[in-house]
Amino acid sequence: MKCTIVGMWGGFPKRNEPTSGYLVEKDGFCILLDAGSGVAAHVQNYVDLNDLHHVFISHYHYDHSCDLGSFLFARMINTQLGRVDRNLNVYGPADDDVERQVDKVKHNTFRPYGEDSTFQIGPFCIVFHRNAHSVETYALRITDDDGKCLVYTADTNYRKSLAKFAEGADVLITECSLYEDEEGERIGHMNSEDVGILSERSGAGKVVLSHLPHYGNLEELADSFRKSGAGEAVLAEAGMEIEV
Ligand SMILES: [Zn+2]
Ligand SMILES: [Zn+2]
Repeated sequence: MKCTIVGMWGGFPKRNEPTSGYLVEKDGFCILLDAGSGVAAHVQNYVDLNDLHHVFISHYHYDHSCDLGSFLFARMINTQLGRVDRNLNVYGPADDDVERQVDKVKHNTFRPYGEDSTFQIGPFCIVFHRNAHSVETYALRITDDDGKCLVYTADTNYRKSLAKFAEGADVLITECSLYEDEEGERIGHMNSEDVGILSERSGAGKVVLSHLPHYGNLEELADSFRKSGAGEAVLAEAGMEIEV
């Protein structure tokens, strides 16, 4: 499978660079992980909106979900224009308000998930891990029909259970919101050292640092990761393609 990083900033977008959005594709099937600000516009560089039928939201913070409304309206309008003839499936943590919002825009369907959920979509099998974050949030593990595996942490503190969940992933896209000397536990995020521990304990193959901070020298995140002995990591960039 292939994963394209649509956006990777934490909190708010940069000029022409969205917050969280990751497009996963194989054999003509595609799923989108998170719909942060700017993602609905930028994902169209890689896929026609009418060919994207599955959007997974990790949690309802704006930097992961605020473009959801754009996806809903796009599906409604493009259906009315005869450009697409199936509903958009929106998967997210169970939430009555979100369910109402999605279902009231025609041609969209809300599919709640929890830690025990499993979805099979084309070649992809998707399972979830409940994170430690300020709102209900899930990491996602996507395995394709060749057994290749991508794990996306979304927002979280480090937890041993997350390392277990990410065990053996071929590619780990992990949040790295903070520098080594910043403390993440209180605000539900990881610093570069936490990410090093996560990567080392999970034995993940390629590690991609994402959900990046808007300050400091980002290269220091990769440097401190390396120092932790967890191997190499690359910094996420908008438009980056990753073969899994
Ligand atoms: Zn976030
Ligand atoms: Zn968050």
